[in-house]
Amino acid sequence: MTESTRTYSGGCLCDGVRFEIDGPLRDVIGCHCGQCRRTSGHHAAATNGAIAGFRLLSEDGLTWFKSSDIAERGFCGRCGSNMFWRRFGGDSISIFAGSLDQPTGLKITSQIYVEEKGDYYEIDPTVRVDPWLCGERVFPLLEAAIERRRADLKKCGRTNDIASAGVDRVVDCFHLDLMQRPDRRLRRGRYRRGG
Ligand SMILES: [Zn+2]
Ligand SMILES: [Zn+2]
Repeated sequence: MTESTRTYSGGCLCDGVRFEIDGPLRDVIGCHCGQCRRTSGHHAAATNGAIAGFRLLSEDGLTWFKSSDIAERGFCGRCGSNMFWRRFGGDSISIFAGSLDQPTGLKITSQIYVEEKGDYYEIDPTVRVDPWLCGERVFPLLEAAIERRRADLKKCGRTNDIASAGVDRVVDCFHLDLMQRPDRRLRRGRYRRGG
């Protein structure tokens, strides 16, 4: 997270969409997941800030695409610029870093979903890979956590999404949540690096 409380601005290629967001913004995370590769045409890099400080100054052409059960992606329907990702009901919004006006002062500090990368490029070894987000490592951990959660819920007779959802769905939620607030999650000790 940058300390800067400045206001950042950005927009799409045709200027139909212009926006502002108040800092601080999260460090930029590179994402190699299949969805980001499709929507960006390569791989994506996004920052994230509080939705309370986000303002659309102009939204001509702004289109929202429901990309999963829990989130949607915003782009310009006129020029195709990929700008936003937000979770339904979430209190933050991810902004694809290339849509921000320069200079941003931001930095890519990590990359995720490297196991889903395209086969035509290599992962930049100078940027940290967050291993706790790689499917190979995180799936067994999450499966165990979900089993424990299911058992707890059974004990007290409650059911909810986690109890009934498939592991894939729950893992997807965890992934998206981590993309939004990895620092907070780490501070709360719910995930351990390299586990
Ligand atoms: Zn546009
Ligand atoms: Zn992604």
